[in-house]
Amino acid sequence: MPLNRRDFMKLGLGACLLPAVGCSRAEAVVSEEMYVFGTLVGVDVLSRDTKAARAAIAEVSHAFTRQNRDWHAWKPGALGDLNRAIAAGRAHEVDPDLLPLLREVRELARASGGLFNPAIGKLVGLWGFHHDEMPVGAPPHARAVAELVAAAPSMDDLEFDGARVSSRNPQVQIDLGGHAKGVALNRALDRLAALGHGNALVNLGGNLAVSGTRGDRPWRIGVRHPQGDGAIASLEVSGRMAVVTSGTYERYRQDGDRRYPHIIDPRSGQPATHVVSATVLHPDAARADVAATALVVAGTEAWPEVARSLGVRDVMIVDEAGRVQLTPGIAAKVQFVEPPASVKTVEIA
Ligand code: AMP
Ligand code: MG
Repeated sequence: MPLNRRDFMKLGLGACLLPAVGCSRAEAVVSEEMYVFGTLVGVDVLSRDTKAARAAIAEVSHAFTRQNRDWHAWKPGALGDLNRAIAAGRAHEVDPDLLPLLREVRELARASGGLFNPAIGKLVGLWGFHHDEMPVGAPPHARAVAELVAAAPSMDDLEFDGARVSSRNPQVQIDLGGHAKGVALNRALDRLAALGHGNALVNLGGNLAVSGTRGDRPWRIGVRHPQGDGAIASLEVSGRMAVVTSGTYERYRQDGDRRYPHIIDPRSGQPATHVVSATVLHPDAARADVAATALVVAGTEAWPEVARSLGVRDVMIVDEAGRVQLTPGIAAKVQFVEPPASVKTVEIA
């Protein structure tokens, strides 16, 4: 496809000045959007070959559709099969694609001190977040919540015998909602790079990962404002880097004028409310995804300790009052759209 003027303008590229030696096609950003993982997904690839870029994006998009099915906690698919087996007290031969996720997420859950706990699928379901639609009405009965908290489901209840997985605790229900998008981002960038597209941006509903650059400049990323429309900040990233945000605004249970957000503190069984958004920058999108969710649970005081033990250093936290805390690494990159209520820099030792 020939480049139009706008593409040149967008990339800030000049016209080819070397007609005598043959003008190779200039790079342009090829973009596609799709709806997967219950959210809008965008893929941008910088390429000289629009057709090849579109074919690569189509491949990545098919992989997203497969992953959404196979890594979904309660829909029919590989993870749903494992969860049904666990509930029935049976061992189950886990799909080879899913197995490494379970091992990886178990390590990350341990590193989070249990604040990230993908074994609490039953609690997530009790609060009504096991539907594509957002739940409405009164919260679940305190007794039902307390019983599930007391059952203490954990990834450490799982026993691995090769690909055969069983659980000592039938209350375990694995929900990879806080991790799988990060894995999908990593795999998408790996696949695009393997197909020769090492300059790309993948956006899974506000969770982003980039590789390379956007031509002669970095990729520019917006971080959604947790308490309003639009962006709270933007930042520029290049090379292999993920920028993942978890927020209590994303999904919630509405009961009259009260909102119960979708990230649950496994210690209480109650939604986490003090941190309204946590943004994490890390080259590994899966770690960033887990960390962002864990830091919302950790809260406004404990998050630096949890970030440290999860091995993430670039973090931005927004609390209920719109106050921002951030680490020096992210402070150097971020530009606020409007000045926040307050900004505090916090070192992660
Ligand atoms: P995220 O959007 O990445 O923050 O992930 C949130 C999703 O992870 C929720 O919709 C639940 O499916 C699941 N989840 C909720 N609370 C936790 C938790 N404490 N640990 C792990 N996963 C959780
Ligand atoms: Mg997450």
